[in-house]
Amino acid sequence: MNKIKMLNPIVELDGDEMTRILWQKIKDVLILPYVDLKSEYYDLGLPERERTKDQVTIDAANAIKKYGVGVKCATITPNAQRVEEYKLSQMWKSPNGTVRSILDGTVFRAPILVDGIKPLVSNWNKPITIARHAYGDVYAGVEAYVPEGGKVYISLPNGEQKLIKDLPSAGIIQAMHNTDKSISSFARSCFNYAVSTKQDLWFSSKDTISKIYDHRFKDIFQEIYQNEYKDKFEALGIEYFYTLIDDAVARVMRSSGGYIWACKNYDGDVMSDMLATSFGSLAMMTSVLVSPEGNYEFEAAHGTVTRHYYKHLKGEETSTNSVATIFAWTGALAKRGQLDGLDDLVEFAHKLEKATLDTIESGTMTKDLVGLFHKDGVEAKGVNSFAFLEAIAQRL
Ligand code: NAP
Ligand code: MG
Repeated sequence: MNKIKMLNPIVELDGDEMTRILWQKIKDVLILPYVDLKSEYYDLGLPERERTKDQVTIDAANAIKKYGVGVKCATITPNAQRVEEYKLSQMWKSPNGTVRSILDGTVFRAPILVDGIKPLVSNWNKPITIARHAYGDVYAGVEAYVPEGGKVYISLPNGEQKLIKDLPSAGIIQAMHNTDKSISSFARSCFNYAVSTKQDLWFSSKDTISKIYDHRFKDIFQEIYQNEYKDKFEALGIEYFYTLIDDAVARVMRSSGGYIWACKNYDGDVMSDMLATSFGSLAMMTSVLVSPEGNYEFEAAHGTVTRHYYKHLKGEETSTNSVATIFAWTGALAKRGQLDGLDDLVEFAHKLEKATLDTIESGTMTKDLVGLFHKDGVEAKGVNSFAFLEAIAQRL
């Protein structure tokens, strides 16, 4: 069989534990037999991060900037226990955090919908994609307990000491910030992603109460939309609109889905968990980091599935869901194909996605999905990690 040829590489970021095992298997069973894969490989497994003093993560992020498309396996973010387990010289930073800060990107998360797994919100029949601003606000806040009689000031660049609050009694204060630069990057990533996926974009905040802070977000989005994206949106027949967060929540609950919901950092943190829960499972969520320059890094939303990995090491059978990791690959292959004008690569990516969904819809799935699956005339059968991949391959 003639394999599909590629022009430019995909940057491949390998990872840890169970997802690393699945990563290799997915390539062997579902990609390499069909695609003459060009990838620039970076091993972000924890031992290699330790060996290179985390330089490999920085190099991988820069390679994504160079080639425009990356695909990442889940990786361990070390904590004290991992420092011990892997004999690390340092508690290396989260690789996702490092890549995100180099690409200055925004993360978009969307559920993978399957006929047979109904969202808890029954009218959501199309995916809802959440775009979470990943910089500042309460996540970089400064807090203090202020004893009785305390006052709070800020120093302005002109040397003025401005009294913010004369507290009526002992209490707490919190200061937070954001920057025009980060908000603008967030806005451009959202507009680019809306154009690339041809979906409406909603943005919500609380500007009626936060008349300077949240209002700045609203103004920056509006200005960038007017100056850079309005024509593109109109040509595609898609819409950008701003609404208050409360109104957005009400509209989202009534909607049938099929749009991108851009959220400030805290809103996105909370709302993405609500969405993931309603749509079923983290193993059925795609996640893509989009930079304002239009670089893409595709990944799964879940972690390295440690508990399954230790079973696997003991020689026990696992039933780990590989759907999100497969969709990270198909996302990257389709984007590469789209950028390089390779229709057969785009087509293959869609075929692999369809084969994956068809496998589940006809009753073969990993055990995490069995309890969620209800379809007339189809009995759900839970299979092991590798049998699931083989079943997909049967359909390619
Ligand atoms: P996790 O790996 O997502 O797993 C938590 C639990 O969720 C699993 O034990 C499993 O439940 C279930 N689960 C998650 N993904 C699954 C899948 N594909 N198939 C079946 N079940 C799945 O989260 P964690 O245990 O909190 O974190 C483990 C490691 O991953 C940590 O070292 C963390 O730093 C890292 N992490 C990486 C990323 C990333 O790279 N993007 C994200 C999050 C966490 P059962 O055990 O009940 O079967
Ligand atoms: Mg959260």
